[in-house]
Amino acid sequence: MADLLKAPTWLWLNKVALLLASLMILAVTSAGRALAVDRFQVEGYQLANGLQILLKPGDRGHVAIRLVVGVGFDDFPCATQELPHLLEHLLFSGLDESGEGGLEERMQALGGEWNAFTSNSDTTFVIEAPARNQRKALDLLRAIITQTRIDAKALELSRQIVEHEDGGHYSHLERLLDRQDIGHGASDQLATELGLKCPERSNVADLNLAQVQAVRDKWYVANNMTLIVVGDLDRLLPAYLERVYSDLRSADLDDSDATLLSISHAAQMRRTLPQGWLGEGSKLHWFYLEPAIAGEHPQALDLVQEYLDWALYTELRLKHGLSYGPWSQRDAFGDTGILSLNADVDRDDLPRAERVLGQMMDNLREHGLDPQTFERIKQQVLARQAWAVQGNSELADYYWNNLGDYDSGRFDDPSRAISQVSLDEANRALREVLKQPPYVRIEQPLLSYDQVYMLAALIGLLLVGMILTLVRGWRRRRTPAQ
Ligand SMILES: [Zn+2]
Repeated sequence: MADLLKAPTWLWLNKVALLLASLMILAVTSAGRALAVDRFQVEGYQLANGLQILLKPGDRGHVAIRLVVGVGFDDFPCATQELPHLLEHLLFSGLDESGEGGLEERMQALGGEWNAFTSNSDTTFVIEAPARNQRKALDLLRAIITQTRIDAKALELSRQIVEHEDGGHYSHLERLLDRQDIGHGASDQLATELGLKCPERSNVADLNLAQVQAVRDKWYVANNMTLIVVGDLDRLLPAYLERVYSDLRSADLDDSDATLLSISHAAQMRRTLPQGWLGEGSKLHWFYLEPAIAGEHPQALDLVQEYLDWALYTELRLKHGLSYGPWSQRDAFGDTGILSLNADVDRDDLPRAERVLGQMMDNLREHGLDPQTFERIKQQVLARQAWAVQGNSELADYYWNNLGDYDSGRFDDPSRAISQVSLDEANRALREVLKQPPYVRIEQPLLSYDQVYMLAALIGLLLVGMILTLVRGWRRRRTPAQ
């Protein structure tokens, strides 16, 4: 992107893009919402400094703003992984002496709300504001990115907040438990065991001002940001953005210091993970490593997951009444996807539930997906595309979460790819998933009520025994041997 920065043709093209964007907003706002229905089409262009802008006219009276900065946890090695999160909080510490509260008051005065999120891949500032104040809200957003002063006092405060969000001060005991994989969800635990997740949180207290400032200098540059605005757009918004956001600094972006974690350890095939002390419930998880589906539609795996969701519901709830809401899930850890089958099950029903799950998967391995069911589920998934994303905020979130599918004014419409997934292709994906046996994880409290009653009875018996012995000893002493 950096080579484009100084090119005069680029500047010229940039002006044309601005003009087109303004015309598009004018056309859509005057034609009502009819033209805005195609959610995959947006007005997208870049400012000369490399800032990518996506504009989409939508519902009246409100705008949803997302500023996506391309820096997240995965860009850092384990020891400093909290750096982008810490910086995100620091950027809310204030623009002047009025501090954090003063900043909040300014946003309140605009009738807006804001928040920010740090994920594995990005840091995103989220604003919802009345349409009439969209320029002022964007002014304020620009100010917090460029003008927030970060000092030792602000750092200490943000450290405390981040520690609090992570579940309080990171004590030696927690660190020890982290190392032992105790207290994590089952998928986190498996990912940690496989080497796909950092074994312990980075210690926020060890992170200093210089490190935070370095992250800001390196990553908070225009050519590493995307600004998304959806809603009742100001007709002159493109010209405003050109004027106000063009002076954001840009810089050469080299690759991040860290690479995505890969599987580096063998994990146990089966483990029981203690969750709390006492109870009758348990959670059964079967985890499959997702195959890389080369040359075919990656959506085949989405359909397999939808199918498995239905299969779980049919078998575990409808036919056998073993679980109220079993579910399937796909998660990404490092460079690996994990597909899981999950069910809340009574502790006593665990063996039966595992048997039913085993039979279900054996049946699928042997006979493949049922053609009729597959077709029905595929049609439902396709139909869902039409109403899945509603309103300005959901649309803005959709663009944020699918930035990887954006290319010159359009987001990929997944419907085409989904409709092209054949039964054969889905069956091949399923067979790849089933090539390896699942990792089984069972989460349950340390003791069931029955076990507690038995323990109590045992302790009771022991106590009675001890008391009897004491009484006998006492009597023997009272009646001396003759
Ligand atoms: Zn946070």
